[in-house]
Amino acid sequence: MSKPVKTYRKREVAGRALSPETMMLGYGYDPHLSEGSIKPPIFQTSTFAFRSAEHGEASFRASRGARIEGDPEDADLAYSRINNPNLEVLEDRLTLFDGADEAVAFASGMGAITTAILAFAGQGSVVLHSSPLYGGTESLIRNVLPRFGIKTLEFPASADEATLARAIVEAQSMGQLAVIYTETPANPTNELVDLALVARLAAEPFAMSRGVRPVVMTDNTYLGPIAQFPLQHGVDVVLYSLTKYVGGHSDLVAGAALGSHAHMAKVRSLRTLFGTNPDPHTCWLLMRSLETVRLRMEASFANAKKLAVFLRDHPKVETVRFLDFLQEGSAQRVVFERQCKSAGSTFSFDVLGGKAGAFRLLNSLKVAKLAVSLGGTETLMCHPGSTTHSGVDQALRERLGMTDGLIRISVGIENPDDLIADLAQALEAV
Ligand code: PLP
Repeated sequence: MSKPVKTYRKREVAGRALSPETMMLGYGYDPHLSEGSIKPPIFQTSTFAFRSAEHGEASFRASRGARIEGDPEDADLAYSRINNPNLEVLEDRLTLFDGADEAVAFASGMGAITTAILAFAGQGSVVLHSSPLYGGTESLIRNVLPRFGIKTLEFPASADEATLARAIVEAQSMGQLAVIYTETPANPTNELVDLALVARLAAEPFAMSRGVRPVVMTDNTYLGPIAQFPLQHGVDVVLYSLTKYVGGHSDLVAGAALGSHAHMAKVRSLRTLFGTNPDPHTCWLLMRSLETVRLRMEASFANAKKLAVFLRDHPKVETVRFLDFLQEGSAQRVVFERQCKSAGSTFSFDVLGGKAGAFRLLNSLKVAKLAVSLGGTETLMCHPGSTTHSGVDQALRERLGMTDGLIRISVGIENPDDLIADLAQALEAV
């Protein structure tokens, strides 16, 4: 028996379907169950009192997704590693933008990625992944998964149908292809993976092992949850570092996995065993953040457009990897127009003078902050080669197009003219 539908999970009014941004302010929470408090209180507790032994038994059944007829509706909280009211409201709201059946929240993006991959891959299976990936994911897949008997193989993020099909056939020859892992746009080069193509090929007989289709995953951190919807393109599991745009204030670390009830049941049960769950306070902060995620992301997207144009026209800047600048008619442009609602606000560019030139620019910033991470209200800039991607082998970095002078910028919501003035003066030092 599935979870009962509660009245405060309201999705429509007078026949009109409510928009996710409206539901971010109230969905999944009834103030009258918490003394009328407009915002959910923080349930800072590790465990929950049962009204009776039977109530405890029913609560554990609920936590395993195994409710039976007659179990009381309020029997669903047992222990905060498994569930918590703040976690439950957060997960309800996280499903809304992406249109997922279910969301599972995590203590970090890496917690979400690791738990989700290991929910579907194990000894003897193969993970086929797009490349490049965020440095932490790249190291996890290349260096850690093989220690658990999981083989891995890469394909270029911008692979066409023939290249991807060859990679799938090769992956199948290495073992059971369990997961096709993608990240798009890719951190830090902004290459796009054609998600509809990956999902279509994953369903071809040559991709299946004993009739089982590999689970297609996408890290949607760069454009989600408002400018890219991987589930609509056939992806099974959407992953987030909520630390970035969703958290949005550079004051928390968290992650999420989204997908069907069947896929999420596997991810959720492994989260309970790994203990990769977020704490109640972080869940509360994320609910605050979700109220403004669309406003913040749209403001930063508009700013990024202005900065990207300024950088493109600057004589000391070489390539600006901003999605709006993809060449008309190119294969990547076609994917961009089909898959992305915006070019986003995180992109990279090369400055003249290689690493020394990049360091001079970064050391001269006065408004933008010199820090890793992205998606916060403030503009952040970093040199991926010596920071986020320093764990990635130099030869591989070069092959992936990560030059020594490559700088990543995550544009915030400051006045864009202030940011342009800051970049202009910093570029004088290059
Ligand atoms: N995915 C992407 C695209 C990222 O940029 C990052 C972190 O920078 C992560 C995943 C990992 O997330 P977290 O730092 O929340 O573990």
